[in-house]
Amino acid sequence: MSSDDRKPCPVCGEAIAASARKCRFCGEEFDADKEEKGDSTGGLIPYKNAPALIAYYCGLFSIFPCFPLGWVAFIMGIKGLKKVKEEPQVRGTVHAWIGVIMGGLFGLIWTLGTIGTIAILFFGLASRP
Ligand SMILES: [Zn+2]
Repeated sequence: MSSDDRKPCPVCGEAIAASARKCRFCGEEFDADKEEKGDSTGGLIPYKNAPALIAYYCGLFSIFPCFPLGWVAFIMGIKGLKKVKEEPQVRGTVHAWIGVIMGGLFGLIWTLGTIGTIAILFFGLASRP
């Protein structure tokens, strides 16, 4: 074995195989796609997953009685989840789920509330002598 196929580990400095994906001394893993790993904010806010972000904020604001917002959150949440499935590095699963659950829940509540209010008004007026 020649020394050509060896390189020092960037973390601990021990000589490891040049093709190694993991240092056998310190356990550090190095992949070809270092850009994804360097994105430390990606775990908190999924900038690369726009549908998940939109779903998250629409889901939060769907608390207010404005039912189309809930449905937007619900649809965008599902889109966000699909995007995570296709490209796991974009992240945003939690954001997407918050959009789906909150958007779906409040979307349903406000939709039923609106239908209920219209029904009460309608039957209330209709039942008057
Ligand atoms: Zn090492």
